[in-house]
Amino acid sequence: MAPDLTPDDRRLTTDDSLDILALAAHRDDVEQTCGGTLLKMAERGHRTGILDLTQGEMGTRGTAEDRAREADEAARILKVRWRRALDIPDGRVENTWENRLKVARLLRQLRPRVLILPFWEGRHPDHYTASVLGYEAAFVSGLAKLEVSDQPSAISRQVSSAIAASEGDESLAPHRPFKIIYASLYRDVRPSFVVDISEQFEARFRSLMAYKSQFTDQQAGSGIFPAQAEIRARVESMARFYGMLGGVTYAEPFVQKEVGLVEDLLAIPVKSI
Ligand SMILES: [Zn+2]
Repeated sequence: MAPDLTPDDRRLTTDDSLDILALAAHRDDVEQTCGGTLLKMAERGHRTGILDLTQGEMGTRGTAEDRAREADEAARILKVRWRRALDIPDGRVENTWENRLKVARLLRQLRPRVLILPFWEGRHPDHYTASVLGYEAAFVSGLAKLEVSDQPSAISRQVSSAIAASEGDESLAPHRPFKIIYASLYRDVRPSFVVDISEQFEARFRSLMAYKSQFTDQQAGSGIFPAQAEIRARVESMARFYGMLGGVTYAEPFVQKEVGLVEDLLAIPVKSI
């Protein structure tokens, strides 16, 4: 297991490339849909990161600053190397050219091989818009003739300083992730595959509980926010359901648009009968 990274370590690796980047609309979406998978990949030595499109200022509970602190704590638990929140308005994630450029700049800087997006259908408009926005940003990021470095005002200050430092070097060369997969836990859809997170489940639940302003038992908004024991039961039931589909205890579901490619029939996992 890799040692825990301090917040300083994560800042120092800001301009390193990543193996896997998970993009989501809101802080805590990744923790709910694919946090166990990110932790498992970090424990396998892969470099992981989280890009939240919004800062959570519209949340019923807590401020954007509270959520920034909580997101940092959750990132530490999930052992991610890099995490940033863009300045796209919470509740108003729109698939605009400007927003695609914001994300494309980061894709060129971080150069992930795998991009995890939210599933493209859902109840919350921010979630499904983030999915399409992420996909189209990945496309734009690969356009050889598109210069994105001349749009510094298109990104939040925190991020632009990191990118300004790398401007002019090859880190902003065109880049497309090799693989895009969709975290589908928010949607009742049959996954293409599940990732066994039996060994990561408890830490993943702790990363979710790091959002104390959202999930601890309290009065404000108690009609929307179930008590912690109820959340635990829900999270566990979902993980067990997807685990059952894969023949393991706990799992997280994903959809891919491509077919699976098999080399050896004897190595295909998950029992049929
Ligand atoms: Zn969300």
